[in-house]
Amino acid sequence: MAGRPLTQKQLRVRREELEAERAQLLAQVRELDAEADVNNWREGGFDDDPADAGSASFERETAQSLSNHARRLLTEIDDALRRIEAGTYGVCERCGEMIEPERLEAIPYTTMCLECKRREETGR
Ligand SMILES: [Zn+2]
Repeated sequence: MAGRPLTQKQLRVRREELEAERAQLLAQVRELDAEADVNNWREGGFDDDPADAGSASFERETAQSLSNHARRLLTEIDDALRRIEAGTYGVCERCGEMIEPERLEAIPYTTMCLECKRREETGR
């Protein structure tokens, strides 16, 4: 069940969405990195209180892992924006069919159609 290629208008809307999300993620990464730094710096002051030191380092790790996650998403969004430029956006990179519009709606930076994604996840 191949969908239709996206129209120019749909692509423009999608690009605006992706760019908005990208800006949001960038701000998030900056914030989380600052948080991780602040905690790193603070940690030195908790030498005589292991509980506080533990929670500070837990917070730092949480901030770092959230930041890493946001960075990965950023890469995927950048890729999606490049695909829009290249005119290959919305095409499954595995089977070459159009990705389901509902799927693109839900995950605008996805590179695979539902079936290929499912196959990849089940390893078949
Ligand atoms: Zn596919």
